[in-house]
Amino acid sequence: MVGTRRCVGTGLFLRDNHGPGDIRSCEAEYLADTFAQKAALLASTVHPASRDSVTLTDTLNRPLRDLRISVTDRCNFRCVYCMPKEVFGPDYAFLGRDEILTFEEITRLAQVFVAHGVGKIRLTGGEPLVRRDLHELVARLSSLPGLDLALTTNGSLLAQQAPALKKAGLTRVNVSLDSLDESVFQTMNGVGFSVARVLQGIEAAIAAGLGPVKVNMVVKRGLNDASILSMAGHFREMGCTLRFIEYMDVGHTNHWRMQEVLPAAEIVRRINAQWPLEPLAPNYPGEVAERWRYKDGRGEIGLVASVTKAFCRDCSRTRLSAEGKLYTCLFATRGHDLRSLLRDGASDEVLSSAIAGIWHRRADRYSELRSDKTSDLPKVEMSHIGG
Ligand code: SAM
Ligand code: SF4
Ligand code: SF4
Repeated sequence: MVGTRRCVGTGLFLRDNHGPGDIRSCEAEYLADTFAQKAALLASTVHPASRDSVTLTDTLNRPLRDLRISVTDRCNFRCVYCMPKEVFGPDYAFLGRDEILTFEEITRLAQVFVAHGVGKIRLTGGEPLVRRDLHELVARLSSLPGLDLALTTNGSLLAQQAPALKKAGLTRVNVSLDSLDESVFQTMNGVGFSVARVLQGIEAAIAAGLGPVKVNMVVKRGLNDASILSMAGHFREMGCTLRFIEYMDVGHTNHWRMQEVLPAAEIVRRINAQWPLEPLAPNYPGEVAERWRYKDGRGEIGLVASVTKAFCRDCSRTRLSAEGKLYTCLFATRGHDLRSLLRDGASDEVLSSAIAGIWHRRADRYSELRSDKTSDLPKVEMSHIGG
């Protein structure tokens, strides 16, 4: 059901593509023709939550706490589950330089999010370290008060950049690595990148003081599930927390099939048979990874079971794409264009009110509603909004 109504949060006229039981993300779209119209409307109806930094909550009473910022849609890998090279080939139209947010624009938006209660920002991509001078953005963001500033990377450029990132104020890094087996890893990353160089990146990050480093492994049944035990053994010895991520139906280009998902429970069963495990309580409400501890005291692992054990109920995350669109769910069909507000000269109050309005209308819970039918819905690609 498609209708138009005035948003209680922003005062803007919005196109609402939600129907009853519709699993698509909130697709509010600004219909106001000019910025003048938008600004006039916003000025008359600034959302109360944007004036008093009270906690913003969505329609399911979930607070806004966590912002992922994609700094580029480009990557030097072509992981089969994320940017398959058949689709992301030499002719693929990536965003142009003028289309992506500048460091100034990102910082300005980040300030507004922090004022709304966001305490954690994760830089992601695409591959964030391919964005030139990323440490300069880190330096700007790390000056925001009380912020936990992290980065997710494929590790390929970490050995060179870790010291500068640490100096600029980065708190910690997560590194993605899907296997220790050269042939499996090179097949998965699509560009023949070697395991050894990612391991060097992890070591450089630890040496630079960016620890504790967490390692992310996406498990795709039949492709790298035979690497689970060797990965667990290696990172147990190194003292790094390894997090297993269920292969997800993000975007469309990976041709996801449920049969290729290895359930988190099966991963726990396999590791437990080798090194007994016991469950641990979450570190904080809404923590994405379920925690398990090795009974022999050699650290812990995490399981991100977004397919078999949805955690939408506590989801307090939002994602800003490199071109400045705000996505309130990893599986959203469309984002909300903050770049045009920024470039049309919106004040902080206007930006704040727009963000408050978007979050107030949020009803996303895709993973709880996932079915055979939902995977065909139009969805944004992971490389646009980060993990
Ligand atoms: N390039 C960086 C990296 O790989 O760490 C950051 C961006 S990447 C999109 C963020 C995370 O998403 C990575 O840990 C990656 O493995 C994960 N990811 C990508 N596609 C996925 C999928 N289809 N299912 C589950 N995780 C996925
Ligand atoms: Fe690049 Fe990360 Fe996607 Fe792999 S998962 S293709 S490294 S963005
Ligand atoms: Fe959050 Fe994922 Fe659920 Fe979307 S599907 S609401 S991103 S937990």
